Parts: sequence; structure tokens; C-alpha cells
Amino acid sequence: MTNQAFLDDPYLASMETEVAEITTEGGVVLKDSIFYPTGGGQPGDNGYLTWGDNRMEVATTIKGEGGAIVLLPPMAGSLPPVGTKVTQILDWPRRHALMQMHTALHLLSVVIPLPVTGGAIGAEKSRLDFDMPDAPEDKNRVLDDLNALIDQDLLVSDSWISEAELDANPSLVKTMSVAPPRGRGKIRMVQIGEGDQIVDYQPCGGTHVLRTGEIGTLRIGKIEKKGQRNRRVYLHFDR
Ligand SMILES: [Zn+2]
Repeated sequence: MTNQAFLDDPYLASMETEVAEITTEGGVVLKDSIFYPTGGGQPGDNGYLTWGDNRMEVATTIKGEGGAIVLLPPMAGSLPPVGTKVTQILDWPRRHALMQMHTALHLLSVVIPLPVTGGAIGAEKSRLDFDMPDAPEDKNRVLDDLNALIDQDLLVSDSWISEAELDANPSLVKTMSVAPPRGRGKIRMVQIGEGDQIVDYQPCGGTHVLRTGEIGTLRIGKIEKKGQRNRRVYLHFDR
């Protein structure tokens, strides 16, 4: 089981660790990973590993067997042998953009308080699908509400509850399409805001910025009708 270092500190852009395993597909499993594996609508991280004079590009990162996190090279090449001390380095600008977008989608689910039926996070644009029979009357109003939460510079924090606690409170799950990450006995809860101003509290295993002010300027893109009841809302960076 790989230590998910990105959960303890999502701002780690580089870290030394050791190679724990090479998979049969030619992927590298590290003892500790700052690379986030594809899941929960957030794409896997890319970057590279170095050891001595060697370098291996990481095209993407996926979940493997038994809690392993697998770093995949773009093509077959030299891999660091098991036990090698390596430095892992993220494509930080991309990962940071994904953290901004991911946090922004939490806020979008606050300003559109409807069940989420799907979603995808990207470094340029992202989307959430809602069970929303009627389109929002005013797109600018949605953006104003979103910007108000960003401007409040709310703290984003996490904590853990047991799977039994989550089962006793099913309403905590907003995203119907993504099951909370289970299997480690505990569920990670992500909270936006604090004290009497908690605006969002839901299970999530992804990476987020520390404060909502760090999200920056966004715009709302298309709102597409997807089927009878669903609507797909796009968010873009406005840079
Ligand atoms: Zn999240």
C-alpha cells in the first residue's frame, strides 16, 4: 500500500522516496507518492523521477492492486530497480491548476445545490453534471455566487470519519456518480469554511487548494442539456 503523501500535503511538488515495486505492466510503485492517481473525476499526475544521472518521465498515474499507486512511463525504457532512492517531481503548474479547478467544482456544487451526477476536472476547463431539469435562469448569478465564495478566501481542510459514520449519514454524499473512496476503513471528509460558516462538507479523496482565494478568476462556459434531466455546466479559467 503506497503512502498517499499528496493527502497530507498537496503542495509537495517534489519528494525523495524509494521504489517499492515494478508492476508487470512496467509501472513504478513508490513507497510514498506525491503523484495523485486518476480517480474521483481528477486525472492522474504527470512529471518525472530522477535517480543518479537517470530520468524517467511519468505520463500519468493510476491506482493499482491493493492500494498501490502506479506511475506509468510514456514508453518502455529504463526503470529504477526496486529499492532505488529516487526523487519524484510533479508537473506542478498542471497539478496546481487541477487543485484550483477541483476546489472550484466543490464551490459550484454549493451555488447549484442539486445532486451531482458526474464530473471531470481538467487543467483548462472542468465540468459538473447536475440532476437539473431546468437550466439556471441567470448564468451570471451563478458566477457571482461562485466568485463571492472565492473572494471570502475560505479555508479548505480535511478530516476523517469511519465508514460506519458515513453509512449513518448518507446525505453527506453529494456526488452520486463517484463513490467515496473506501477500503481503508476511514473516509476522508473535505470541508470548505469553518465555524458557523461551513459551506461544503463531503467525502473526497482529491487534492485541493488551501484557501478558496487561491482559485483565481473563473468564467462559466456552456451549459449543455444531457438527457431528460441532466445538465452539464462547464467552468473555465479566465486568464
Ligand atoms: Zn474534492
